[in-house]
Amino acid sequence: MDREALRAGFKRHFKDDVRDLSKEYPIVEIFHSVQGEGFHAGIPHVFVRFGTCNLRCSWCDTDFDTFETMNGIDVLIQILQYDCDRVIFTGGEPMLHDLWPLHRLLKRRGYNLSIESNGTIEIPDGLIDWVCISPKDQVYPNSVIRQRSGNELKVVYCGQEMDMYDDLKSGFDHHFIQPCYIDTATVEENGVMFQNTEQIVKEHRGWRLSLQTHKWMGIL
Ligand code: SF4
Repeated sequence: MDREALRAGFKRHFKDDVRDLSKEYPIVEIFHSVQGEGFHAGIPHVFVRFGTCNLRCSWCDTDFDTFETMNGIDVLIQILQYDCDRVIFTGGEPMLHDLWPLHRLLKRRGYNLSIESNGTIEIPDGLIDWVCISPKDQVYPNSVIRQRSGNELKVVYCGQEMDMYDDLKSGFDHHFIQPCYIDTATVEENGVMFQNTEQIVKEHRGWRLSLQTHKWMGIL
């Protein structure tokens, strides 16, 4: 259904603020899929993928420079079309944008909100229900991890020493290691990284393996 048709059927909540509805966001895509990795793997969510990022990881699989500017109302009605009450803000780096307008629009309608962030920007208390931080200081050693607490710490393993997370770990309830999967690498090259990651999980108590199962399934 096109955006105008969706807008025509949109029912405004009496508490919706016009400033929240008109707030502009850079959006790469909004889609309904099953979370493939980390603590909520297997649970359907609506993914809101924001454009722009303050890092440029070599393995990044998101073209975050290609996006469309959408208003809060358009983001909301895209989300509302799915029979799903869980939303993940991802990117790019979603914390580069003021998420409070979307928070207000979505929490008012009963949504559970998660975020996947690189942790370089502090997340205000109360903004998000489930905070997943995936630090990239293994490739950006000068980046400062400002969000040092949350529900889930998800490390992309590229061969780094795991003791670099000793301090950060204590702020999170769940600790995941995920092999660095590179789309352009061969099956054998990615396979070596999978084996190395499995070994690291076995050797480091308290960490769990996370795999990007959505990539195996060929879904977003
Ligand atoms: S922080 Fe995440 S979105 Fe940004 S470049 Fe790295 S992998 Fe991509």
